[in-house]
Amino acid sequence: MAPAASAGLTGRPIRVGLDIGGTKTDAVALDARGEVMGRIRRASGYGADAVVADVVDSVRELGAEFGFSTSDVAGVGVGIPGVVDTDRGLVLHAVNLGVTSLELAALASGRLGVAVSVENDVKAAALGAASLRGRSSAASIAYLNLGTGVAAGIVVDGVLWRGSRGTAGEVGHISVDPNGRVCGCGQRGCIETLCGGGALARAWGRPGALPVRDIFEAAENGDTEALLLRADLARGAAAAVRVLVLSADVETVVIGGGLTALGEELCYGIRTALRAVAAGSAFLRSLHLDERIELLPPGSAVAALGAALVGAPTTTKETAVHG
Ligand SMILES: [Zn+2]
Repeated sequence: MAPAASAGLTGRPIRVGLDIGGTKTDAVALDARGEVMGRIRRASGYGADAVVADVVDSVRELGAEFGFSTSDVAGVGVGIPGVVDTDRGLVLHAVNLGVTSLELAALASGRLGVAVSVENDVKAAALGAASLRGRSSAASIAYLNLGTGVAAGIVVDGVLWRGSRGTAGEVGHISVDPNGRVCGCGQRGCIETLCGGGALARAWGRPGALPVRDIFEAAENGDTEALLLRADLARGAAAAVRVLVLSADVETVVIGGGLTALGEELCYGIRTALRAVAAGSAFLRSLHLDERIELLPPGSAVAALGAALVGAPTTTKETAVHG
């Protein structure tokens, strides 16, 4: 396979990024300057063949809609939920997509004739969140995803930090309460049991399509159980922010994921929880953690954007021209 760098120099100006979620696939095309030139959203398929087809069809659909052919594409990056072996382009245990093991990069690349890179979706989103902050601040950020589960991606000096085994940023499974609820991972009191949408819905246990929204509404009406769960959400997310800043000293923690639909109410809760812990610690107060979080704007294509930058021929710093 020709290296992406040479492809980038021989007249292939466009990069494509995909965020393949459990229900929908978000795809963007970036022009030579790294600006988004087009975006499409389509329903995700289920199963290995359908996921490969998602990648191929998304690239072709973007091309048809925004006027380029696959021969104009320097590289395709795919963000996908699950364990990803980035060196081999292998996706493992993407449960929501019905994938146990899939050589996604090789199969999609073979059909498109374009280099394909694969990355975990939260890590791709971290790269996207960093690039949205622009060249001047391609510094160090963490992206904390509060969705059904909880995970983070860390970008240090503009470069995604995966760690030695790709586990860097898996803050959802740091146990912060030995007497807490049992987590899907087998531990008790993981951060995810406090602020993961799935864990909150199970703890709430009442019918409703939007359980976390219901918890917030019931808390407003003084429901005792809802007040406790709302506080859990805030203190779990605050714990994740502390872990991210104290371990990687990121300047900002950008919060994204489904729970950010709660908007400023969520941010207010997390800030308040951060201040509550800092009240007893001059050290924590000196870090101003409550001022270092921000919510991702709703509907942002951050994971698809970041995926487009995965495997890009230049470093993230050089391609971070947004904003
Ligand atoms: Zn856990």
